[in-house]
Amino acid sequence: MSTDPRRRVPRTDALLAEPRLAAAAERLGRSLVKDAVLRVQQQVRDGQLGPEDAADAALAALPERASSLQPVLNATGVLVHTNLGRAPLSAAAVEAIAAAAGTTDVELDLGTGRRGPRGEGAVGALLERVPAAEAAIVVNNCAAALALVATALGQGRELVLARGELVEIGDGFRIPELLAATGARLREVGTTNRVTVDDYRDALHDETGAVLKVHPSNFVVRGFTREVPVHELALALRGSRVPLVADVGSGLLAPHPLLPDEPDLQSTLAGGADLVLASGDKLLGGPQAGLVLGRAELVQRLRRHPLYRALRVDKTTLAALEATLRGPRPPVAEMLAADVGTLRGRARALAARLADAGVPAEAVDSQARVGGGGAPEHPLPSAAVALPAAFAEPLRRGPRPVVGHVDDDRTLLDLRSVPPAADDDLADAVLEVARRWT
Ligand SMILES: *Cc1c(COP(=O)(O)O)cnc(C)c1O
Repeated sequence: MSTDPRRRVPRTDALLAEPRLAAAAERLGRSLVKDAVLRVQQQVRDGQLGPEDAADAALAALPERASSLQPVLNATGVLVHTNLGRAPLSAAAVEAIAAAAGTTDVELDLGTGRRGPRGEGAVGALLERVPAAEAAIVVNNCAAALALVATALGQGRELVLARGELVEIGDGFRIPELLAATGARLREVGTTNRVTVDDYRDALHDETGAVLKVHPSNFVVRGFTREVPVHELALALRGSRVPLVADVGSGLLAPHPLLPDEPDLQSTLAGGADLVLASGDKLLGGPQAGLVLGRAELVQRLRRHPLYRALRVDKTTLAALEATLRGPRPPVAEMLAADVGTLRGRARALAARLADAGVPAEAVDSQARVGGGGAPEHPLPSAAVALPAAFAEPLRRGPRPVVGHVDDDRTLLDLRSVPPAADDDLADAVLEVARRWT
């Protein structure tokens, strides 16, 4: 018998035919399984692994699923965290996605067998929840909604907006740059801190395509400031035939008692805006989407514009959006409404459980935030489990990744952004890190 490990390397086809690996190839695809097989063969060749262990090692090295995106526990206290995929979807939305994922009646009327209007269910649900809107369309995200509006109403014309609303939303996404990229000319009015109705009125002329109001979601201007509320602007534009478009960003359907400064779709339309734009995956708590609601004639113009075809959403987004609107309260709304006493109770229970296992954990009060560019000045009272700072990295890199908030010399696991049903997973992840250390 040869002692040269290279001659004992199991053959690729033999490993791929091993029943457990063959089953994995059915589920994950042959190429992921083959990659794992090639890696363990190399380990055998290098003498790091016995040939008899190759199949087990390949199986252990397989990814859990064919996508590299992993579920992450969001313990940052930022409810809508853009880097963590913004709003977690409700169980109803996840179920709707699964049902629509195959072939589905997204554009077919099963009664007549003829082509039907695309996304009718989601649009109908939006109109029920926002009665001030006559019509609605759904596009890829709020940036797409802005691009569509700027193209359809502003191309070759002027878009009037306040200088203080030429904002950067995050990660280099600047609204004025997006608008200008569509070929619309921007007409800035007012100063950084102040704008009046007359500033807007003086800017109007034959080539005005629309007046745009952008909610400066992620910052506030304080002191000697003045902006023109939607209802005043609507009054000033009455009779001018220039549409007033309001980008409210966060996607609240109606006023929220806990977020008094956050504009909402219903009130903004009722206040006189002709169109409102918002994201689907911020405070609405649904899938990534851009919502456009308002006057039927304007919505129809957007729908008929060729660019709409490039920006429309797929069947799974429509399914998730409708289920978010019609189904039970989505996780973001639950997290926003969570009672701080309940959060403190969860933090104490978790900290006690961890301390019993020898982990230096402590329940503390904390401050959560809406995030996603919403209500920047509105901290939400919350509770967290405080751990030594050194926990942050291994928690993030663990088999069930947890992202916390590093504050001074501690890692805080804020419970407002963690669904209560995930507390056990959170405890297990911390215990797993502690176990690896001892
Ligand atoms: C977040 C936000 C956007 C961008 O929305 P996306 O859905 O991420 O494209 C645009 N405008 C405002 C006011 C926002 O808050």
